Amino acid sequence: MARLKKETQFNLTYFFIAIIAILLIQDFWAHKKNVAYIPYSEFRSNLKSGNISEISILDKQIRGAFKEQINNKKNFLTTRVESDLVKELEASGVKYNRVIENTFFKDILSWILPTFLFFAIWIYLMKKMAEKGGGVSGGFMSVGKSKAKVYVETDTKVSFNDVAGVDEAKAELTEVVNFLKSPDEYGILGARLPKGILLVGPPGTGKTLLAKAIAGEAGVPFFSISGSEFVEMFVGVGAARVRDLFEQARKKAPCIVFIDELDALGKVRSSGIHGGHDEKEQTLNQLLVELDGFDSKSGIVLLGATNRPEILDPALLRAGRFDRQVLVDRPDKIGRIQILNVHIKKIKIVDDLDLEQVAALTPGFTGADLENLVNEAALVATRRKSSDVSLDDFNVAIERIIAGLEKRNRLLNPFERKVVAYHEMGHAIVASSLPGSDPIHKISIIPRGIGALGYTIQRPIEDRFLMKKEELENKMSVLLGGRAAEKIVFNHLSTGASDDIMKATEIARSMVTKYGMVEDLGHVNYDDKQTSFLGTQSFSNMSRYGEKTTQAIDDSVKELIEKAYKKAIEILKEKQSILEESSNELLEKETLSETELKKYFI
Ligand code: ADP
Ligand code: MG
Ligand code: ZN
Repeated sequence: MARLKKETQFNLTYFFIAIIAILLIQDFWAHKKNVAYIPYSEFRSNLKSGNISEISILDKQIRGAFKEQINNKKNFLTTRVESDLVKELEASGVKYNRVIENTFFKDILSWILPTFLFFAIWIYLMKKMAEKGGGVSGGFMSVGKSKAKVYVETDTKVSFNDVAGVDEAKAELTEVVNFLKSPDEYGILGARLPKGILLVGPPGTGKTLLAKAIAGEAGVPFFSISGSEFVEMFVGVGAARVRDLFEQARKKAPCIVFIDELDALGKVRSSGIHGGHDEKEQTLNQLLVELDGFDSKSGIVLLGATNRPEILDPALLRAGRFDRQVLVDRPDKIGRIQILNVHIKKIKIVDDLDLEQVAALTPGFTGADLENLVNEAALVATRRKSSDVSLDDFNVAIERIIAGLEKRNRLLNPFERKVVAYHEMGHAIVASSLPGSDPIHKISIIPRGIGALGYTIQRPIEDRFLMKKEELENKMSVLLGGRAAEKIVFNHLSTGASDDIMKATEIARSMVTKYGMVEDLGHVNYDDKQTSFLGTQSFSNMSRYGEKTTQAIDDSVKELIEKAYKKAIEILKEKQSILEESSNELLEKETLSETELKKYFI
């Protein structure tokens, strides 16, 4: 569309240049004919003196020729003034006629020039809009076109070296890059490319940066678009954009398609009768169709990024779509040192700057926070007119940032960190002491994006479809291990356990109402929840059971939970020394891996 417009514009320009040239030449000729512009009175006097051979009367002017030249001019031109000219002309015997002016060119010009101007302005505005749209083919007329930008290797000057402290994510993505670079090598063993990779993590941890780095490393075309750019006012436009994007990508395969802020378009579709968000739904459906429409052999790798995976539509996350999720988490201490190392290259620092100290003081900081910190520190140093940035500048900057961030970012004070460390170790120790629990993969006390102050990741050895009653009970004990540890060590109850309690309660309730695991209540389903198609739940608030039964259900749930809690307390009391020791190590290192934990769990 844009290219076509450009051609038309060119042709029109030539056309008008030609017309103007013709007019100029005409004018030039008129001058050549040596015409004298004379006042009307002079014309009259010449007429009287009989010095005029012939005239032509135009609408507004009189053209004519002298008998004898005046000022070397044979012809003359004068502006008409009404009078009874004809009589005089008759009297002087001059040859005269009335000319009907040919106004063809003038008329044409008066039509075309405004049109031309209008078009010029229109084209100019279109161009402006297209530029604003940020794409090659944006703008008003190309509503359905995708605005994806295509980066090639040299366009983004970001490489994997610029992304620090997220080694796991980097390793995973490096594999994809290598795959795209040499598909044959991987193909030998029959491996296939992952279809969709979703980068998940709190804001500012470097997801967008990672994607740019892949573009820099990949050496294949890289389409980048933000989810919000699919969200349009008109129904169907977003869907058309998705289609267009994948069409382009298919032509350029092998390539990478990156959709940033995926949550903007991948929100859970509304269930139930009130439709409403038709546009978003259509866009999402189109995306799902496209995801199913290419297989991994086509060489398109889809990359997504989001900091709100919990609101994504489950259909996006199921196997065969975004089948790999890569966690881009807040960096631990070592990661923070690496990130600081990347960013201090931009400033002048003292030779013996102890980055480890800076890293130790900034738990919970993301890559973006650290970049900001380096900049703040440089500002502080500039203010005190120093030639290089020292540790003190960093300390001042940290204080300034934390004071500002505290409310938004859940940075913990030392006591809270201690509580979180014991809490998480509590989970881990109970898990390791109970048979059949999944091994602990990683423990961390780095506050995580939404809600969690720390976390313990258990790694399931195998997919489980059946669970025995004992296993469910053990699971509840593990969940309550956090609260138990806090109770034993600090003798307090804190809000930190609310999520654990909710999960444990859910398990207990299911055991009672769904699985028929409580003897007194028998093998009966007491589940009032109506699970609708696609897993969203609605509640009927009318209970079908008598007061006694309801009471019995509540009592059984409570009993199960208390039993599990007691078990957790028992285990932790027995292993309190291990709890102390390991919690201190966790406080020191912030994250403990499986191997580091081994010594505690024999
Ligand atoms: P996200 O997309 O996850 O919200 P960005 O990728 O936009 O975060 O990160 C913002 C900025 O923070 C980056 O441009 C970079 O300068 C800095 N940054 C974030 N994470 C890292 C990291 N792991 N290593 C180096 N710099 C980082
Ligand atoms: Mg981003
Ligand atoms: Zn917990």
